[in-house]
Amino acid sequence: MSNTIKSINPYNQELIETYTLETETQVFSKLKMADKAFNDWKNEDIEHRTQLLINVGNILEERLEPLSKLITLEMGKPIQESRAEINKCIFLCDFYTTNAEEFLADQIIKTDAQESFISYDPLGVILAIMPWNFPFWQVLRFAIPTLAAGNTVVVKHASNVTGCALALQTIFEDAGFNPGCFQTLVTNHKVIEKVLEDPIVKAVSLTGSEKAGRSIAKVAGQHLKKAVLELGGNNACIVLDDANLNKYIDTIVKARMLNTGQSCIAAKRFIVTENIYDAFVDKFTAKVKTLKYSNPLNEETEIATLAREDLATDIQKQVDDAIQKGAKVVLGNQRDKAYFAPTILTEVTKDMAVFTEETFGPVAPIFKVKNIEEALELATNSKFGLGTMLFTEDTETATEHISKIPDGAFFINEMVKSDPRLPFGGTKASGYGRELSVEGIHEFVNVKTVYIN
Ligand code: NAP
Repeated sequence: MSNTIKSINPYNQELIETYTLETETQVFSKLKMADKAFNDWKNEDIEHRTQLLINVGNILEERLEPLSKLITLEMGKPIQESRAEINKCIFLCDFYTTNAEEFLADQIIKTDAQESFISYDPLGVILAIMPWNFPFWQVLRFAIPTLAAGNTVVVKHASNVTGCALALQTIFEDAGFNPGCFQTLVTNHKVIEKVLEDPIVKAVSLTGSEKAGRSIAKVAGQHLKKAVLELGGNNACIVLDDANLNKYIDTIVKARMLNTGQSCIAAKRFIVTENIYDAFVDKFTAKVKTLKYSNPLNEETEIATLAREDLATDIQKQVDDAIQKGAKVVLGNQRDKAYFAPTILTEVTKDMAVFTEETFGPVAPIFKVKNIEEALELATNSKFGLGTMLFTEDTETATEHISKIPDGAFFINEMVKSDPRLPFGGTKASGYGRELSVEGIHEFVNVKTVYIN
């Protein structure tokens, strides 16, 4: 097994940097540092903790350009989207700076006691295992509330964004955090499993694939440690006959093509009722054709390569499977190294991989259905449960379907998206637990009942 990680620009395959993996001894000494830092950090008052969150937000603002460039170089997303990611992280810092104190305050509950309340104590060192698709957002949406609650964190980031991982650690140090509060571990899966087994680590948060979720949940389960799992998705986007395509087609295309299709909550199955079907395919195709592909550092770029060449190979297999089973290619299906052209498929069926599996790239299979009942049946026929979106002008009737959606989110006339003010997470093979909002900050605390008579 190699002891180095190569960070490669997926647009031109140029080597950005080679990193040497930390030794097991180095990793475990970081773990001890995190534990030691926890003893001080948990006793800091909330004003001090939130002041440091303000500092993180300010540093992100000051470093907006170099950090955005780093994201684009390492994982290839268009530079405008990298800036949007950093700006969203700044909003996240503002949100918890404003609300952490209230979220963590004791909650008085009236009972037979003279006094009874709930208090929220930090747990200790929390391990995070994170993906490359939003390399700053994914880490910070975990770390900001978890640190605000008084825990310390160690982060194993995806190997292809090691530069981002190290830049994150520097940001926390420069913001005034004790170096043990936020640490990046540059290591492999085997060592991470040992880290999770170590008694110092109290819980784990993983954002990644279903496969990674199953192996981490197994280790966490064996050691009775809490896990939050944010895994894959196969969101349906239902478009009904009365949908306003002129108003929403840009949103619907963005729902699939944002981050070149590499988003867990992207629309991955388009389910369209028959009277609007032809108009939908035409308008969707026309809009996708306008998306500009070029070097992701160019301001006008809207579609980029995938983050690694093997990801384009995986998408090709899924598209080939659909074609072999009878799907028609309306647009795309060209590949060149890490590039996979935005692809639209019709005449798709439930036995195809583009229906049963997550497609983590710019591929849009479009299904034709008779009515809302058939649409809901198809939409909910998935092992995943991150979210569903529905486009219709009759929002009143649409709200009657809320209870039929077994996912973590249901968006009407909007793409599924995360927002620090709202909880985020999935059901079924999309994982369990919630991030963001008040629910997110309560994931890694001891919800303690206090009863005084
Ligand atoms: P991945 O291959 O599962 O990797 C995610 C992270 O887990 C990486 O840091 C990876 O390290 C690590 N990892 C994988 N297996 C591991 C193991 N056995 N032990 C320890 N660490 C392990 O996923 P990805 O390709 O980076 O991300 C894409 C997936 O993430 C998609 O399925 C997407 O839907 C999902 N995702 C979900 C959400 C959500 O909020 N639900 C958000 C974003 C992405 P290495 O890089 O070193 O392999």
